[in-house]
Formats: sequence, C-alpha cells, structure tokens
Amino acid sequence: MKTYTHIFFDLDHTLWDFEKNSEETLFALYEQFDLGSFGKFDSHSFYKKYKFVNVRLWDLYNKGRIKQAELREGRFVKTLTGLGLEPHEIPVGIAEAYTDQCPTKTAVFPYAYEVLEYLQPKYGLHIITNGFREVQHIKMSASNLHGYFREVITSESCGFKKPDRRMFEHLLERINVTPDECLMVGDNYECDIEGARQAGIDQVFFNPEKHSQKRSPKPTHEISCLSELKQFL
Ligand SMILES: [Mg+2]
Repeated sequence: MKTYTHIFFDLDHTLWDFEKNSEETLFALYEQFDLGSFGKFDSHSFYKKYKFVNVRLWDLYNKGRIKQAELREGRFVKTLTGLGLEPHEIPVGIAEAYTDQCPTKTAVFPYAYEVLEYLQPKYGLHIITNGFREVQHIKMSASNLHGYFREVITSESCGFKKPDRRMFEHLLERINVTPDECLMVGDNYECDIEGARQAGIDQVFFNPEKHSQKRSPKPTHEISCLSELKQFL
C-alpha cells in the first residue's frame, strides 16, 4: 500500500453536485423566462433536453473541438430549437442567466464536508477541474468548499485540460511532489482516471450512480459514496 501525502479532487459531480444545482437553475430559468408561454414544452422536458445537449457539447469542449463561448450559448440554442422554438424566439440573456445563477447553488454530495474535515489534517488537498476559473471559484465559495484546498487548478488557468497528463504534472510541479505520493478522486473515467493514470498517479473512481460498465484498466479504487474514502485514507 502506498503512502499518499496529497489528494487531488475533481470538483463537478465529485464534490459539488452539478446535476442537482443545474436542475434547480434550469427550473428557475423556465419560470424566469416564461418558457411555458410558448406552449411547446414543460419544465421537465426543458431540463431533460438541456442535459442531453450539454453532455454532448461538454464532450466536444473537452476534446478541444469547440470553445467556451460556443458551449455556453450553443447548449441553449440547441436545447430550445430542439424543443421547437425558432432561433429568433430564444430569450435574450438566458445563457448568461444560467452562467450567473448556477455557480451560486450550494448542493454538494453526501458526506463531502465530513470527508474533507477528516482528510484535511492528514493530506494536502487540491482541486483539479476542467471548468472555467471564475465559475469554479464562485461555486467553491458559495458552497463553503474553498477552505479545504491549497491549490485550485482549472484548465483555464493552466492551459491544459484533463485528461492531458500535463495538467496533472502542472499541479505536481506547483506542490513539488512525485506522482506516487498522490491520489486523484474523480467521477469521469476518461478525464480524471485515465488522465491521472497517464501521469503515474493512483486513482479513485467516484461512481455514485453505480454504473456497471466495465472499465479497463481498472482504477486503483472505486467508490459510490465519498464516505468510503475513509476506509483507505
Ligand atoms: Mg467531474
């Protein structure tokens, strides 16, 4: 068993409950922009369509095939035209309203604070996230996560995106440790687990929905609840 000294965490959908926070924001936007008045879709269809579109656009963004602005605008254009609105009917400012409101939401995964309280005295804790710098800092402040972490590395601030090993190496250099002292905790197999593995860092795959898909190579550890970290750390 290795002795770890530093733990890297992904932020979205690992600590900060992206799904719950996003859902709450989208239901609020449906009311705020009176999307029901078009008579074409209810708030649940709006949420489901957005989710479908957003995952696909994030995938393209992570692969470097679209830029931040195309992601932010495009997900609302594609969602709403997909639900039957004409491009000129798309409410002005809805994409900005989402980007402003969502990061201020505060839902985190069960046991997040408890586990971070437990880990903080024993390890150096750091965030490594593909999100945008400003947005990720707002999320961490709003949900009181900031105080637990020494370094917060975003793809925007370091110039590389997970799974690029250079993003992990950037953090290793900043804290001046070797990969074998570190452990990466994240929910995205390709970005967090494969990326960390490429950088020589052990991994904890956070799989709260318990997707049974076979992963190869297997992550060092797999958990479905953050509290399980206390079993081996
Ligand atoms: Mg994530």
